[in-house]
Amino acid sequence: MEPTGVAFISGEYVQLAEANVNVMTHSFNYGTGVFEGIRGYWNAAEEQVYLFRVREHYERLHESARIMGIVVPYSVDELCRISLEVVRRSMLRQDLYLRPIAYKSGLGIGVGMTGVSDGFVLFATPMGNYLDTEHGLRCCVSSWRRAGDNAVPPRAKVTGGYANAAIAKHEAQVNGYDEAIMLTDSGVVAEGSAENLFMVRRGALITPPITDNVLEGITRATLMELARIELHLPVLDRTVQRTELYTADELFLCGTGAQVSPVIEVDRRPVGAGTMR
Ligand code: PMP
Repeated sequence: MEPTGVAFISGEYVQLAEANVNVMTHSFNYGTGVFEGIRGYWNAAEEQVYLFRVREHYERLHESARIMGIVVPYSVDELCRISLEVVRRSMLRQDLYLRPIAYKSGLGIGVGMTGVSDGFVLFATPMGNYLDTEHGLRCCVSSWRRAGDNAVPPRAKVTGGYANAAIAKHEAQVNGYDEAIMLTDSGVVAEGSAENLFMVRRGALITPPITDNVLEGITRATLMELARIELHLPVLDRTVQRTELYTADELFLCGTGAQVSPVIEVDRRPVGAGTMR
């Protein structure tokens, strides 16, 4: 299947089908890229695509790159401008997804990054729901642990780090669940395979802190702000234990892909009444 969309690669705008990298590329072999996922929502009344928190995503891309020692060849402002141009050229009149990747682009064998060149690619492609936001998710606690800050830092959105997410998500799906909830190496709740986690317990909205091996999610930060300022809910970021998932009144996963996805079951135990309210 030909991919639909437009890409910006090596400084040029091309059709997505033409945006290819060589098999000897360092990041293809060793996972040495940092990336983002940004949603664009098609507004039919305005006939425009609205990008959600695009600046914050590029600020995080720069942070991820700093952690990995990858150079992003564009400033946050430039990345915002390039994003708008990619969206314009894609001519997509529907919800879409932007995927920028800053990566080690040099060709050759050897994991070292010294002297290996940096590349940048950004593409826009159509995207609907990533998870089922309509019916609720059945989740398991994964037997795979979230890689820690001293292994592959979850604070950085590193392409290679998503092997950890993929192995957990795959295990969940082959066992008949929709999504995996991952614990840290010390056994407390971190997040979903590619989503932050929130629970409601005793009237408070609770999410694991950014020091418990989670990505510092932009949706997470937005929801915390909305809950505090608009809904006047008590919001706590504190360590969450596994058994709290079983006794939560409500649970949901959130992220750019997941948006807000309610969880109705964890490890075959219903969350609250086991239905969406
Ligand atoms: N955790 C992980 C591991 C993710 O991949 C994502 C998706 N980017 C999230 C959380 C949610 O982050 P955000 O709201 O910034 O998309």
